[in-house]
Amino acid sequence: MPRRTKILATLGPATDAPGVLEEVLEAGANVVRINFSHGTPEEHLNRVKAVRNWAKSNDTYIGVLMDLQGPKIRISSFKEGKINLAIGDKFCLDSELDNEAGDNKSVGIAYKSLPKEVKSGDVLLLDDGRVVLQVEDTSDTCINTTVIQGGPLSNKKGINLKGGGLAAGALTDKDKEDIKIAAEGKADFVALSFPRNGDDVRETKELLKQAGSEAGVVAKIERAESLDEETILDIIKESAGIMVARGDLGVEIGDPQLPAQQKRLIQLARSNDRFVITATQMMESMIDNPIPTRAEIFDVANAVLDGTDAVMLSAETAAGKYPKNAVRTMHDVCLETEKNPIAKTSHHRLHEQFKFIDETIAMSTMYAANHLGVKVVAALTESGKTALWMSRMSSNISIYAMSDKVETLRKTTIYRGVYPCGIDKTEVKDASDWEKINRIVIDTLLQNKVVNNKDLVVLTKGSYQEGAGGTNMMKILRVGDQSY
Ligand code: PGA
Ligand code: MN
Repeated sequence: MPRRTKILATLGPATDAPGVLEEVLEAGANVVRINFSHGTPEEHLNRVKAVRNWAKSNDTYIGVLMDLQGPKIRISSFKEGKINLAIGDKFCLDSELDNEAGDNKSVGIAYKSLPKEVKSGDVLLLDDGRVVLQVEDTSDTCINTTVIQGGPLSNKKGINLKGGGLAAGALTDKDKEDIKIAAEGKADFVALSFPRNGDDVRETKELLKQAGSEAGVVAKIERAESLDEETILDIIKESAGIMVARGDLGVEIGDPQLPAQQKRLIQLARSNDRFVITATQMMESMIDNPIPTRAEIFDVANAVLDGTDAVMLSAETAAGKYPKNAVRTMHDVCLETEKNPIAKTSHHRLHEQFKFIDETIAMSTMYAANHLGVKVVAALTESGKTALWMSRMSSNISIYAMSDKVETLRKTTIYRGVYPCGIDKTEVKDASDWEKINRIVIDTLLQNKVVNNKDLVVLTKGSYQEGAGGTNMMKILRVGDQSY
């Protein structure tokens, strides 16, 4: 059985070293993440090119997710590069201080309106909460604070407001430029950092469209205010998928709330037919060590049991010492965990009415496949939607998304339990050529060694081959039969 949960590996300096990208992809990364927070447009586009070349020469599909930096609020730099703060120290965040002029009394901030957005009593979390400042008072340009948790603080560390609520919109000028780079790189997914609400997602979709990109938007859930019921549903429905961005989210809402939110967000995404990525510190200790901690193994396993589509590696692959091991370890944990009955059994929509014909076919197919014991499901798909629907149902049956559209195939790389499979339809004259289409599907599956003679395959397709959303048929075929 192939692994169902997908692995998303962030690229960076470590994977730029000769041979490492190839190792990471061979070890099983299905999608790569390119982080606009670091590096130049040229570096990003070169990485995309290298991934696509590898995929092509290995006759496979790798998704590319390009991650916008967003309005991450950061301190500027220190004269000495680093300071140490102790509990009780007075420290000022000063929007007028020069970029490199920080010392142990004050440091600059790039987000100039921050002093106007915080008030006395607020708690600021620096460097993912390692340093904590309590706001005493503010002026137009200065935030005067007292250190309530001390420690080292170095250049450009992030600032979060406990409880969230900063006004900064999700898209900065840099993000708008980076959207054009994502379009140029033909990104399959663009991740939006810190969306406040559905409007931020809508604006991103509009900008992508203007730039000529068909990328699906992945909303990173990392702001406290995006979690209320109405807001999160609007965000999910506007997006192709979401990311449980545990780093910033954990800082804003407090880590103890994270596990419950992770489960809620995964469940909400799945029940609204969206994919979901679980991200940040999954194998953190592998940045420096060849093996993870047992707690990290449990973290990955629990995300799999929660129903995540993908688990993500950040610095583990982008800047760590053991990128290949990190992917391989995740692979092993996912594969073992997927054997648990929880990961295979579905109650998805058992008691619900369906809205669409193609949705109904997708659901019926999975029901039939699970109950008949077929080898694989083959979904002929224009947009990938049928395969996405099928994969919302927990199952241990492989779903092959079959298309002649490379963009569609690459989008399905992130769906749990779905495997992209290119087909050549040039010989099919028109959609009434059923027998031929069926035979091409079976032959392709045979060539890919995913079925054997006498295996059962459930095939879904539309009555016309052009245009998306037309799936209205399900057929059960036995490999090797005289006619299909
Ligand atoms: P980041 O997002 O790595 O871009 O900050 C993920 C997170 O916050 O968890
Ligand atoms: Mn983040």
